[in-house]
Amino acid sequence: MEGSEKLENEKTEKGTDKPESQNVLTSTRTVIKTALDKLGYSQEVYDLMKEPLRMMTVRIPIRMDDGSIKVFTGYRAQHNDAVGPTKGGVRFHPDVTETEVKALSIWMSLKAGIVDLPYGGGKGGIICDPREMSFPELERLSRGYVRAISQIVGPTKDIPAPDVFTNSQIMAWMMDEYSRMKEFDSPGFITGKPIVLGGSHGRESATAKGVTICINEAAKKKGINIEGARVVIQGFGNAGSFLAKFMHDAGAKVVGISDVYGGLHDPDGLDIDYLLDRRDSFGTVSKLFKDTIGNDELLELDCDILVPAAIENQITERNADKIKAQIVVEAANGPTTIEATRILSERGVLLVPDVLASAGGVTVSYFEWVQNNQGYYWTEQEVQERLEKVMVNSFDNVYKVSTARNVDMRLASYMVGVRKMSEASRFRGWI
Ligand code: NAD
Repeated sequence: MEGSEKLENEKTEKGTDKPESQNVLTSTRTVIKTALDKLGYSQEVYDLMKEPLRMMTVRIPIRMDDGSIKVFTGYRAQHNDAVGPTKGGVRFHPDVTETEVKALSIWMSLKAGIVDLPYGGGKGGIICDPREMSFPELERLSRGYVRAISQIVGPTKDIPAPDVFTNSQIMAWMMDEYSRMKEFDSPGFITGKPIVLGGSHGRESATAKGVTICINEAAKKKGINIEGARVVIQGFGNAGSFLAKFMHDAGAKVVGISDVYGGLHDPDGLDIDYLLDRRDSFGTVSKLFKDTIGNDELLELDCDILVPAAIENQITERNADKIKAQIVVEAANGPTTIEATRILSERGVLLVPDVLASAGGVTVSYFEWVQNNQGYYWTEQEVQERLEKVMVNSFDNVYKVSTARNVDMRLASYMVGVRKMSEASRFRGWI
C-alpha cells in the first residue's frame, strides 16, 4: 500500500513538469510577446501578461467510500483582473498540471478580450480521475475544492465554470457549497449550472454554436457554400458532436469524425443522427465499427473544412503540409502548433484560432452570469441571437486586423485579446 502511494505521489510531482504543458505555455507567451510588440507595448506589459497575477495551490483531503482519506491537489489561477472579475472553468483530470492551468488562464483572458466581455481570465483544476470516482466522492471533492479556494473566488471576484470532465451537476454542488458558506443564495458564483438553478438556455451547445458561426464567416471569406461543403471533425465529445449536428442540419456533408479510438470516413457523408444516437457520454462511437481509420489519416482527408475538436498538438510541422482543407477552425484548445500555423498560413489555408473559435462557451457563461445578476431569464432564442451577434462581430474584428496588419488570424486574435487588458492595466496605473 505504502509503495503504491509513493508511486502515486511521484506521478503527481512529475506531472507538474509535463513537457506538453510547458510547450503550450511557452508558445502562448511567444505569440503574446509578438502581439504586444506589434501594438507597440513595452516589455513591462509583457512581464505583467506572461504569468497569472495569482496562483493558488490547495490540498484537499477527501474521505473515500472505503473509509480511507485521499489528499487531492488542486489549483486556481487568476491571470489578469484589470478589466473585471476573472472567469474560467475547472478541469478534473489526472494530467492537470500547474503549468497547464496557468496557460489556460491566459487563454481565458485572451478570449474575454476578443469577444469583449467585462472579464479577465481564470482557470482551475484538480488532479484526479473522475471516471474512477463514485458520485458521492465527486460531490465531496467538488465541495472541498470550493471551501479551499473560497477566499479568492466569488461572483464579483472570480467565477468558475465547467471544463474537461466537469459538468452541470458538479457546478450545482459547488454553487450550493458556496451559498451555504456565505449564507446567501449565490447563483452568480458559477456558470454552467442546471437550468433549474439559474443556468442559461443554450449553454451546453454554446461552444459548438460559436464554432459554427466562425465556420460560416470563414466560408464566406473563402467563397465556400456550406450546403454541400465537406467537413471533417476530430473529436465527438461536447464540442465535436453538437458541431456535427449543426453542420449536418445546415446541409454540409460531414465526411469524417473521430474519437480517441479512431475515425469513421464516408466521402458521401456520414449518418450523423445515427452516430449521435450511438455515442457514449465520453464521446466515443468508433469502437462500434470495424472499418475505421487512424486519427492522423482523418486530419489529412480530402475536405473543405477541418475542425480539430479533441486535444492539443494535432496539427504540427509533421502533417501541416498534408492538410487538404481550405479552412481549419480550432474548436479544441491548442490543436495547432506555432510552426504548423505558419505552414498553413503560407499555403493560404484560413485558420480560425481557438481563442476566437471556441469563445462561444464563455460568451454564454457571461450571459448566464448577467441573467443571475438581474434575476431575469432569457429565452433560448434571445441567447442564440445575442451569441450570433457577439461571434460575428468578433470574427469581423479579428479578420480586419489580420488583413490590415498582414498577420495570420492567430496573431490578429492575440492582438485584439491583449489590447483591452493592457489598456485597463494602464488606466489603473499598474504599468
Ligand atoms: P469531451 O471530453 O466532451 O470530448 C473529447 C473528444 O475528443 C472525445 O470524442 C474523445 O474521444 C476525443 N479524443 C480524446 N483524445 C483524443 C485523441 N488523442 N485523438 C482523437 N480524439 C481524442 O471534450 P469537449 O468538451 O468536446 O472539448 C474538446 C476540446 O474543445 C478540448 O480541447 C476543450 O478544451 C475544447 N473546448 C471545449 C469547450 C466546451 O465548452 N466543451 C469550450 C472551449 C474549448
